[in-house]
Amino acid sequence: MTEALNANTGTHFTQYTRSFAEYWDDLVGWEARLAREGAFYNRHLHAHGAKQVIDIATGTGVNAVSLAQYGFEVTAVDGSENMLAKAQENARHYGVSFADAKAIDGLSLDETLGTEQFDAAVCLGNSFTHLFDHEDRRTALRAIFRILRPGGMLIIDQRNYDAMLDQGYSSKHAFCYTGNNVDVGPVELHRSLAKFNYVFPDGARFELNMYPLRQDYLTHLLEDAGFVNVERYGDMRRPYDTNEVDFVQQIAFRP
Ligand code: SAM
Repeated sequence: MTEALNANTGTHFTQYTRSFAEYWDDLVGWEARLAREGAFYNRHLHAHGAKQVIDIATGTGVNAVSLAQYGFEVTAVDGSENMLAKAQENARHYGVSFADAKAIDGLSLDETLGTEQFDAAVCLGNSFTHLFDHEDRRTALRAIFRILRPGGMLIIDQRNYDAMLDQGYSSKHAFCYTGNNVDVGPVELHRSLAKFNYVFPDGARFELNMYPLRQDYLTHLLEDAGFVNVERYGDMRRPYDTNEVDFVQQIAFRP
């Protein structure tokens, strides 16, 4: 089975079909991924005094469930009903519940949520790189800015596209998605597109198109949206060597 889906059409989350949602958890490799990154997000959110956290690209819930387990009141949001349904199933499986769960396009987050505001927002698992248009990225970040209370924190992560574009993709850069035997790699990589291929042990294949967002550009976009004190981490550490890390996390604040 091959599902080749195109994110350049503007329907960013329609890539996540029901069958891909079923496979996503194998790709994510929950246990290994949370062992590696769960404590990092928990530590930063707790240190900032956050209680109400919105995950704006919940997917099947790996981070939202983990944060609920740590005791945060988590609102789980995703543009894909399929992914959100799987996240709720996973929350039940792990014995936690979300404060709320809603299918919302990240571009209209503030309009849909109205006056609701949060102490922190997370956008993890390379999700922001699903936006292909500069103005859409600005719109999405302004929307996130508005749904945060003053002093609110945003954590956003992405693959280290700088290294991929400047040095080429290396198979050692398979850091984030560690599901068993899932073969992940780019089939097309240039400054305007990173098309990743995912091959599962049963032969199922999927493709996802992502925008290879450079880290300086994302910092600029965050500041352009009004965020301040942007901190950057590479594979959850700093300082870091841009040539060596697989993922970059940026933490920004609403003044
Ligand atoms: N955060 C999860 C994780 O780490 O496993 C999911 C990551 S997955 C790569 C990206 C998610 O972003 C998908 O669930 C997709 O539906 C969602 N997404 C992409 N574009 C979106 C948009 N414009 N609005 C809301 N969700 C979107």
